[in-house]
Amino acid sequence: MTVTTLQAPEVIDPVLTQAFESRLLGSLVRPGDDKYDESRQLMNMFHDGHPAYIVRAADVADVLYAVNFAREQKLPITVRSGGHSIPGYSMADDSVVVDLSGMKRVSVNPKKRTLRAQPGATTADVLAATQPHGLALSTGDTASVGLGGLTTGGGIGFLVRKFGLTIDSLRSVNIVTANGHYLTASAVRNPDLFWAIRGGSGNFGIVTSFEFNLQPVGTIVGGAIFLPATREVLRGYADYATTAPDELTTIAGVMMAPPLPFIPAEWHFKPVFNILVVYAGEPEKGQAVVAPLLALAEPIADVIMPMPYPGIYEFTADIAQRLHATVRSGFMDGLPDAAIETIMDDVEAGFDPFAMVQIRALGGAFARVPADATAFAHRDKSIFLAVINLGAEEGHRQWAETLWKRLKPHTSGVYVNFLDKEGDERVHEAYPPTTYERLADVKLRYDPRNVFNLNQNIKPAGSSTDQREAKRFSRVMAALVPNPVPEIW
Ligand SMILES: Cc1cc2nc3c(=O)[nH]c(=O)nc-3n(C[C@H](O)[C@H](O)[C@H](O)COP(=O)(O)OP(=O)(O)OC[C@H]3O[C@@H](n4cnc5c(N)ncnc54)[C@H](O)[C@@H]3O)c2cc1C
Repeated sequence: MTVTTLQAPEVIDPVLTQAFESRLLGSLVRPGDDKYDESRQLMNMFHDGHPAYIVRAADVADVLYAVNFAREQKLPITVRSGGHSIPGYSMADDSVVVDLSGMKRVSVNPKKRTLRAQPGATTADVLAATQPHGLALSTGDTASVGLGGLTTGGGIGFLVRKFGLTIDSLRSVNIVTANGHYLTASAVRNPDLFWAIRGGSGNFGIVTSFEFNLQPVGTIVGGAIFLPATREVLRGYADYATTAPDELTTIAGVMMAPPLPFIPAEWHFKPVFNILVVYAGEPEKGQAVVAPLLALAEPIADVIMPMPYPGIYEFTADIAQRLHATVRSGFMDGLPDAAIETIMDDVEAGFDPFAMVQIRALGGAFARVPADATAFAHRDKSIFLAVINLGAEEGHRQWAETLWKRLKPHTSGVYVNFLDKEGDERVHEAYPPTTYERLADVKLRYDPRNVFNLNQNIKPAGSSTDQREAKRFSRVMAALVPNPVPEIW
């Protein structure tokens, strides 16, 4: 069941809108306002959503007011934190956007090694707060991605083999649910909700703050290696990078060599295999652990060196900005030879100048978390592969679709945060059947009317009677469980 728009925004009594606006500590942006066009921009430039209201939330009260207003006016709700949604769900037409990009406070407790962060905070904000203490959170590969979307989907980045996903460091969240309750979810409070939030994407409410464990990470051995894109290199990479010591996490890809000064000119704009490397262990041991990657072929360029952990994000700075992104992706059990053949066919045909076939090696700490511990359950998959094209023209999108059609049969399962609008069947693929059923049960309990449906949507389980029961249950629970301490920063 989905809440439908019963009222066009223009027929909402202006007095109601005014009353709503007057309650906000943040601001309300509407079509025609000076800030409207700027406020509705997302990272992926393919999207051009025109919401009815953008609530630039300043605190939890704003989020509660926005959810209640949208529910009362029967307007759809979308949630925006860092704005990096690949399918553009965070800025839907005619919706009330709860924009958390201004809620980006972070606070570190160096003694306890914990971090409290608001959802609009990005990896850059987290690095700035944690690195002075020699601490880090396992996040993603791009500094501009928001914690809101990254964490609720899982979070696969440069420390995934050493410390697991972002959700594997999550201690608790504060969240506003569909019926306007403000709850804490953790291992001991609303544990079913806490399980679902860790991978179930934005289906269960609006997270207003996260509490994470931090890990000691200071100097890493890291950087980039450029190798010729050959069958042997791809095979050797997948075999080594998935079984190397946990300290080594890599994100690799076939792409056109950029015209950087350290890449010989004869390779510029030719297909190469690029490996981004993070060795987060004792620096003296790092070079030896990275050596097998350098030995896969005569390197075209090797810029591996000891560096402060944030240094690795310089290597992805070119994608930490607005761009056109077409993405198709899936998990694999190892990298099958047939998939390598398919990729190499494309390399030999000249490749697309805006394209990348990204290959992330998993395993390590990521794989040791039991599959049923969090809603992100594809823990047994050792490779994550994404076909990415950053070209704006239809031909580039088609390139991605065509290659993906040939690679998809080698995949099993998908990462919810890399899904585009690919239909319900693909959302199911993000979760094994038992995980999906459990998610649908939790959805029934916390969002029986599917208020949060503009996302990779999990439909509430059960009949309308179940839905009434679930609503009663959630009301009683919210009354019994004390509200969290208000977030004063
Ligand atoms: C350039 C780029 C690089 C990326 N790299 C990585 C990577 O290395 N690893 C990785 O794991 N992912 C990566 N991603 C995918 C990224 O994790 C997802 O797109 C994620 O949803 C972005 O979060 P956001 O807050 O920036 O996005 P938004 O567009 O703000 O939100 C996306 C969705 O997340 C949900 N959501 C957001 N905030 C909240 C909240 N506070 N409470 C509940 N739900 C919420 C909503 O459903 C929303 O529609 C990358 C994406 C891009 C575009």
